[in-house]
Amino acid sequence: MRIGHGFDSHEFRAGISLKIGGITLAHDQGLGGHSDGDVLLHAITDALLGAIAAPDIGALFPPADAKWKGADSAVFLREALKRVRDAGYGVANIDASLILAAPKIGPHAGAIRARVAELLGVAGDCVGLKAKTPEGLSLENTAVAHVVALLEKRPAKKLTADRARAKSKKKKSKKR
Ligand code: MG
Repeated sequence: MRIGHGFDSHEFRAGISLKIGGITLAHDQGLGGHSDGDVLLHAITDALLGAIAAPDIGALFPPADAKWKGADSAVFLREALKRVRDAGYGVANIDASLILAAPKIGPHAGAIRARVAELLGVAGDCVGLKAKTPEGLSLENTAVAHVVALLEKRPAKKLTADRARAKSKKKKSKKR
């Protein structure tokens, strides 16, 4: 088994849409950043990469590279997952804590967990998500995410099945 930890923070900015965990949430501000600013997907990506001692998200997708401007952060997560599988591991579960003043995450937690589980190719009960307000942290204008990920060694047969499933999903999403 391997364990990884990911941390990220982004500042709220007016005039952009808010994306957390691959879901767009109704709010008067979004998270700034070079990509779509999805603080949760970034922390998950770094947790996966950290678990296999791979280069981190900033090294793989440099903010200086115009290619990643406004990018869907699911692209980063998929690359991290590919590297996890190539290293012979699969995701056992992840657990995440979000810290932000607003909006309230509770009503959206189910949708976020389902989307993250779909991106990771795991069951919904393998994605933990808690949300806290930044009490005493003076971080009213910031969203913070902490994530731990547990990986387990996969038998070759299971890995081949994982890769085939990922490939057919890719094909299907291209068709759409
Ligand atoms: Mg980030």
